[in-house]
Amino acid sequence: MSGVEESDETEMMCCASCGTAEVDDIKLKKCACNLVKYCSAACQKDHRPQHKEACKKRVAELREELLFKQPESSHFGDCPICFLPLAIDERKSPMMACCSKHICIGCGYANSKREVEENLEPKCPYCREKVPTTKKQIKTHLMRRIKVNDPVALRQMGSLCFHDGDYSGAFEYWIKAAGLGEVGAHFELSCLYRDGQGVEKDRKKQMYHLEEAAIGGDPVARNNLGCVLGRSFWDADSMGRAVKHFIIAAKLGHDGSLSTLRQMYMKQVISKEDYAAALRGHQATVDATKSPLRNDADIHARGDENLIKRVEANDPVAMYQMGSCCSDEGDYKTASEYWTKAAALGEVGAHYQLSVMYGEGVGVEKDKKKGVYHLEQAAIGGDPDARHNLGVIENDNGRYERAAKLFIIAAKLGCDNHWMP
Ligand SMILES: [Zn+2]
Ligand SMILES: [Zn+2]
Ligand SMILES: [Zn+2]
Ligand SMILES: [Zn+2]
Repeated sequence: MSGVEESDETEMMCCASCGTAEVDDIKLKKCACNLVKYCSAACQKDHRPQHKEACKKRVAELREELLFKQPESSHFGDCPICFLPLAIDERKSPMMACCSKHICIGCGYANSKREVEENLEPKCPYCREKVPTTKKQIKTHLMRRIKVNDPVALRQMGSLCFHDGDYSGAFEYWIKAAGLGEVGAHFELSCLYRDGQGVEKDRKKQMYHLEEAAIGGDPVARNNLGCVLGRSFWDADSMGRAVKHFIIAAKLGHDGSLSTLRQMYMKQVISKEDYAAALRGHQATVDATKSPLRNDADIHARGDENLIKRVEANDPVAMYQMGSCCSDEGDYKTASEYWTKAAALGEVGAHYQLSVMYGEGVGVEKDKKKGVYHLEQAAIGGDPDARHNLGVIENDNGRYERAAKLFIIAAKLGCDNHWMP
């Protein structure tokens, strides 16, 4: 141990105001800054004028450290049954109304499959209770748990109030839940303060609760922080903080933050290294939430049995339809996978969809060459819109004759896109 540290150590053992040492039954209390200790509130008050500045500075530093620390996982944590990390999409990690536990769709699917096979009464796969379904049953359940101060139940009751338009009721429940460390409640409070619902609008409190939710591991709150700060793009400090928030959120698996970073990288606002690190972190987090069972559940949740059977039999049209289902739900990556399979089997519509995805970098890395390739395949397959779009590209490249030819074929094929250069 160095001499400096040693002297710090001794300092910590004495009241910073009167010098009383921490011995026997004299206990010193740490100041919020963690730099000094006091024997009494009176000593702390006396010492305030000379300590105020250093204290404020250190408290702000500690807050920054806490705020920009990468959380180990999202606030959803792991599925309590299979222990794999939960997806941050709540549709894939639904909460059970009986016990307020988030369960992965894989475990839910396995449970209901067994119940159907064995002709059992439907129950929660975690707590084994009957899952309440009506609003009345849910409220009775919640009230029982609110009596024992269950923070999640408090937050849920707040949400019920909110949906009934009772904003001050919602505020009361959420503030209690947040006081018990409920991350989601902090997020809801930030929205109330932003919109002035049930409370006066208050930007400072809005940001405070948003930060608390982000620190607790809520990727949406983290992304929102980035968006709020990113609006001040003329201020380098705000922008720097926004980028840090987006990177943390992307690493927690937030798609929106990742695509914001992608745009920032293309506009050279962030470095290639930063973007690549966020991309890798995002991928690793998303991959960690995958399992064969969850995948099965996903497919079954998506389509009717008939469509699934056709997909399993490698029917290109069914693959195309499954891709469209995924795309409608906003799962562009899986959509691109189905469409790639369908396109490989010669499905023209899938080629067209892939050309759009590669052209815009949705669900896949942007790739102009691949975009044009799929567009050509779709055009060759007889898709008039693809033919038309090829014409637009040729025209943009100054090859007007080729463009005109393509437009004519497209028009003959029935394309009614009256595009004028
Ligand atoms: Zn003292
Ligand atoms: Zn202090
Ligand atoms: Zn699970
Ligand atoms: Zn349950």
